[in-house]
Amino acid sequence: LTPDIKDGVEISLKSYTPTLEEREAYENTSKLDLSVVILGHVDAGKSTLCGRLLEALHSLDARTHHKNARESKAAGKASFAYAWALDSLPEERARGVTIDVARTRVRLDESEDRWIQISDAPGHRDFVPSAIAGASSADVALLVIDGAIGAFEKGFSENGQTKEHAMMAKALGISKMIVVVNKLDSCAYDKSRYEEVKSRVFDFLTNGNIGYDEKDVAVVPVSALEGSNIVSSNQFVQECAPWYAGNESLLDILKSSKASSKGQPAPLRMPVLEILTASGNASSHALGSCAFTGKIESGSISVRDKVFISPANVVATVKRIEKGLNQPVQFASVGAVVDVGLTGVESSSLQSGSVICHHSYPLRAAKVIEVDIKTSDSLKRPILPGAKVVVHAHSAETEATVLELLSILDETTGEEVKRKPLFLPKGKYGKIVLSFQQSLCVEAYALSKTLGGVLLRSEGEAIAQGTIAKIKR
Ligand code: GDP
Repeated sequence: LTPDIKDGVEISLKSYTPTLEEREAYENTSKLDLSVVILGHVDAGKSTLCGRLLEALHSLDARTHHKNARESKAAGKASFAYAWALDSLPEERARGVTIDVARTRVRLDESEDRWIQISDAPGHRDFVPSAIAGASSADVALLVIDGAIGAFEKGFSENGQTKEHAMMAKALGISKMIVVVNKLDSCAYDKSRYEEVKSRVFDFLTNGNIGYDEKDVAVVPVSALEGSNIVSSNQFVQECAPWYAGNESLLDILKSSKASSKGQPAPLRMPVLEILTASGNASSHALGSCAFTGKIESGSISVRDKVFISPANVVATVKRIEKGLNQPVQFASVGAVVDVGLTGVESSSLQSGSVICHHSYPLRAAKVIEVDIKTSDSLKRPILPGAKVVVHAHSAETEATVLELLSILDETTGEEVKRKPLFLPKGKYGKIVLSFQQSLCVEAYALSKTLGGVLLRSEGEAIAQGTIAKIKR
């Protein structure tokens, strides 16, 4: 394996000179668009919360809501009126679950033209891969917890999705976590219940288990159904919870959230989240036949730019860029989620997990990586050399083989405590080598927290989270 970084910087990237606009974008992180994913166990209230947020951001108009309320009542599911704001597939409505990842973009701040993209991820175990794709572009995760007696305990058990979602969020480089303790109406906004749920989830996220910094985790009590503490914390204190001293509503916390610190200006890296087809979900035909939605993780993109598509290894030209709701723009930079139309390539050169790069600073796909991992606390069987796993990195996914177990590391010092172990048990730090079945567009973690974070899954469960130390192309 060849280390392709020195002092945290890839050697070839050292010569990159950012443009003036790029420099400005990196200096104004607080003004960047925000990408949010809603995670949590099935039935925790994710879709309902999402509907409330859209309403709060003036994106759910009264007419649509009344229509949803009418139809959900007719279908015998009156409590789903808000959840239907995003769940649009008939199958989802029939079952009352969110299957595919629903994405929507709304203005977070009129005055600054800040946009927020909200993805509502499915909570069912079978649907976790699409939750991963939904989470891969997020700066902030809303981890929705059902605070009702019994329901919290279920969602938070080993079989619940809450813990796996938290692990996934950390593995995919989501820097900030907002824990939304929902359904507090069901326990009469009981303070001690809120405090109990809050401290258990907070401890799990910050102590060893998941590894979030305390400053990156916020906790907020709400009732999505009643709309309490979504917009106004004053009203929440007056009407429901006189004990609430947090004086911030969910919307206040979101508005003050910044996109993750983007580090140094770097060349364009834009993972493809979704391919847009003219007949299906293309927001506008003006994008042409080769179009996608992507998140700019670093650098910027302008109309007429030449870009390099990895792993197809072809060059294309940017025809059109659309921000927000089909607004054409000439330029978009770090943090933005945009729709892009390309010319000069076949649409088959693009797939979810491709990365669009600066044409002079391309990213070559990796075949073998060395990863620092932390195995899950609920790992059923230890990880052995030769094990087959599924690796998720940003919106890409491939099967992989554990080629070698290099070492077990000490949890606090990171020093090697055992060389070439025979297996890696649960809850341990270690260094392993993975070989991909299909090459994957990833980068060393030191260069990119989003392109350098991986989640390992096996038999439908997350088994480890990891950061890429070295890459062999
Ligand atoms: P999801 O599966 O996480 O998307 O959950 P949904 O938003 O579909 O909600 C599941 C059920 O919980 C529905 O019946 C909702 O009406 C109900 N629900 C959601 N939020 C609340 C809340 O704050 N309080 C109560 N009591 N029920 C809620």
